[in-house]
Amino acid sequence: MSVRVRFAPSPTGPLHIGGLRTALFNYLFARKQKGTFILRIEDTDQSRYVAGAEDYIIESLKWCNIPYDEGPLKGGPYAPYRQSDRKVIYRQYADQLVDSGNAYLAFDTPEEIENYRKKAESEGKTFQYDISVRHKLKNSLTLGEAETKQLINSGIPYVIRFKIPENEQLHVNDLIRGSITFQTSLLDDKVLFKADGLPTYHLANIVDDYLMKISHVIRGEEWLPSLPLHVLLYHALGREKQMPQFAHLPLILKPSGQGKLSKRDGDKMGFPVFPLQWTDPETGEVSSGYRESGYLPEAVVNFLALLGWNPGSDQEIFSLDELVEAFSLDRVGKAGSRFDPEKARWYNQQYIRQQSNEVLADTFISLLNQRGIQADPGKVEKIVGLIRERIVFMSDLWDQSYFFFTPPEEYDPATVKKVWKEDSAMIAEDIKKLLNHTDPFNPEEIEKALKDYSDKNQTGMGKIMNPLRLLLVGGSFGPHLTDIITLLGKEETLRRITIGIHALKSVNL
Ligand code: GLU
Repeated sequence: MSVRVRFAPSPTGPLHIGGLRTALFNYLFARKQKGTFILRIEDTDQSRYVAGAEDYIIESLKWCNIPYDEGPLKGGPYAPYRQSDRKVIYRQYADQLVDSGNAYLAFDTPEEIENYRKKAESEGKTFQYDISVRHKLKNSLTLGEAETKQLINSGIPYVIRFKIPENEQLHVNDLIRGSITFQTSLLDDKVLFKADGLPTYHLANIVDDYLMKISHVIRGEEWLPSLPLHVLLYHALGREKQMPQFAHLPLILKPSGQGKLSKRDGDKMGFPVFPLQWTDPETGEVSSGYRESGYLPEAVVNFLALLGWNPGSDQEIFSLDELVEAFSLDRVGKAGSRFDPEKARWYNQQYIRQQSNEVLADTFISLLNQRGIQADPGKVEKIVGLIRERIVFMSDLWDQSYFFFTPPEEYDPATVKKVWKEDSAMIAEDIKKLLNHTDPFNPEEIEKALKDYSDKNQTGMGKIMNPLRLLLVGGSFGPHLTDIITLLGKEETLRRITIGIHALKSVNL
């Protein structure tokens, strides 16, 4: 049997990185096994449908370079791949289950169910539509054939519920968790088909996995409670032979390790939990995304792969091809894996360091253009070479080097206090003259000139370099001073020294 796996998100909002990891693991597994990776949109719950979410999912996969072989927009032999376009398919399976006595029609109104729930609650219990109560409620099991028919004919809305078998022990194998035993007596009679004419997630999911010949279901741990129902459905439909193998991936935990990483955590804790920025269509609330925060998709894919899977070696940096080669489900753990935002940053830094100065300069030039700055590519490449080790995000390119493109507008007060002394202006004047005559104007010659001055005047290099840096960049940061001076060029360096001395005249020493 060939390997066919699917990522089956519901378009109820932006894709959480946990969902993205599920997609990634499915993709890696499919590639490794020379199988097929399918994207299926599970949108039968109209009440939870969010406009734009499907496009967001597709765009996220594209950004991460996780292409699907079959799916919406792309098509494939089992099209359509959006459940709302497959509506006509599901009813016959629900009917088959009713005919074989594995499901029944339930006429209880939502209000009635709510009342049962409230009553149970007031007695300190929880209401569950199951074997203990189904014979007391308003359904085709209690009403009999004639009355059921009559209710149907008079247009009374109903749902179709699965009739959970009594007192069975169900043993299911999970590729990550091993054998799991479920007691059917604890399960409720889930709705399979709703009054609105659409199947629920459970029925549509099973039917489509079956029709699309899915061989392995790889999904998040949150779906483990649904597993017994899904297995029972395969049995009841007489399709146990075609039942896929199941693998439930461990949860991604908050950085504290306490509890599941939720959609709300990210912006609260200062890191994105979504691949792309998302604007809620109803509230207008914006959630940050990895892409917009300056992460490279390769870095995101790499750190996600190591959340829950371990390669069995110390290797941390993996290209997508290397991940495909190394991936196996038996190296996926059961325990939740803690999300570490520091590590995510580290990955990004590593991937940025892998890029050549030329590639980084290209990106930087377009960022500069966005700011209305036209810069010489040769100069930008040199600047990139000076700052590349300090870059974690592409946006840091500007933060670490803006002073090459725009003179200081202010001088950092803490640095001024620390380095601008009584003789600083005089020394700076001397250096100005010195630099004016330095030729060629390169780091070695400049260094030599400053050193000679220091020796001749018995002035420490710190007393020369620190105030000079302050005048040129506005603070105590940046790469090596002689590199800054060289790249600024003679004219600009002298100009900044003159302006700076003037600006700092009024400083109280
Ligand atoms: N539609 C489900 C979701 O939103 C799919 C779960 C599954 O993969 O079976 O995640």
